[in-house]
Amino acid sequence: MSRLSVAVIGAGMGGLASAAALSRAGVDVTVYEQAQRFTRLGAGIQIGCNAMKVMRAWDLEPLLRRAAFYPRSWNNKEYDTGEVRFDMVFGPAAEERYGAPYLLGHRGDLHAALASAVPENLLRLDHKLTAIEQRADRSVALTFANGHSTTVDAVVAADGVHSFVKERLFGRDEPNFTGRIAYRTVFPASLLNGYPIDDCTKWWGPDRHIVIYYVKPDRSEVYFVTSQPEPGFTVESWSATGDVNELRKAFDGFHPQVRKVLEACPSVHKWALVDRDPLPRWSAGNITLLGDACHPMTPYMAQGAAMAIEDAAVLSRCLKGVDRDGVAAAFRRFEATRKPRTSRVQASSRTNTWLKNPTDPDWVYGYDAWTTPIAEPALA
Ligand code: FAD
Repeated sequence: MSRLSVAVIGAGMGGLASAAALSRAGVDVTVYEQAQRFTRLGAGIQIGCNAMKVMRAWDLEPLLRRAAFYPRSWNNKEYDTGEVRFDMVFGPAAEERYGAPYLLGHRGDLHAALASAVPENLLRLDHKLTAIEQRADRSVALTFANGHSTTVDAVVAADGVHSFVKERLFGRDEPNFTGRIAYRTVFPASLLNGYPIDDCTKWWGPDRHIVIYYVKPDRSEVYFVTSQPEPGFTVESWSATGDVNELRKAFDGFHPQVRKVLEACPSVHKWALVDRDPLPRWSAGNITLLGDACHPMTPYMAQGAAMAIEDAAVLSRCLKGVDRDGVAAAFRRFEATRKPRTSRVQASSRTNTWLKNPTDPDWVYGYDAWTTPIAEPALA
């Protein structure tokens, strides 16, 4: 039997994780990314124990431990008094309980770590997918903006919340704009002039919050991300430069620690916060969606990338040893295994209550994508 050929569309967290997993499962995989080069967006990312467990299998743990911050906890405090609502303690106890550490990193470092798990010759930059066609023999034909075209046994579309492939498979509809935006940035901790801040705290205000944490093991870089109402934000500019003075005004009444961080930050980006309801279907024939393309969520549980990374591990288990004729059934097993979990995280994330009060987080951090049972799809 010849090796199954799979094209992964998009080299974000989900696409790279898919390539890492599929190449180790004996699949002939190629990743097509529209960008000409990888850019290092100024943002942090929480790497949940559940995502770390997946990446352990690719030997990325030592690299990430060296690059990222190992926090004592994710603390949750009242926005003004600083009274502790719930302190979710991580560190060695959680590492033992969940089988992997909880780390706080720079997005660029996580992306680079995932890229290091994918042989360079499997990556094609400057390849924007512009056409996709499922053929009668189940193969899939792809065309790219640069004129390149190819035919493969199967396609994994990890092309993000504005997925082109989703639109082609199931029609066009915009994601749900929450009416809220996130300001975020990473900046040198030296700009705090020695002012001490917490390892990682979410400051809960009445209609807005801010999460602040270090992203480097030596505490040399600080990240924050906010969520606040801004119904008039033009959804066309999904990412734009924000005004730091407006941001400072918006968090005027917050604790001195928050105000100090916002005073020190030199510049910010702002993002529209979007999500979707769970899709009725993730795949059609030999084409499946993965990651934000099929289950985008608000960032309030810090689990979007973790879900895409978990998807990759389960997908590789479903596709292992499968030939072209078995792909469609494998994709349905993938969806049946993953959708209950990603739908629950989408719904829970939308409420923005995660860890606000004492919470049992075992169902999120304790999940192991390498051993969770593969589900059989319900008969149509
Ligand atoms: P993306 O990262 O969006 O990647 C899609 C890729 O596809 C891109 O590289 C794009 O260029 C490419 N692409 C698109 N169209 C085409 C095409 N036609 N042809 C070729 N390539 C194409 N998650 C966490 O786990 N922890 C966190 O702490 C966290 N914090 C967050 C904070 C904020 C403010 C936001 C907005 C999100 C946060 N997330 C977090 C969620 C996380 O960023 C996403 O869930 C994750 O990036 C999804 O990965 P993806 O690979 O599915 O999509």
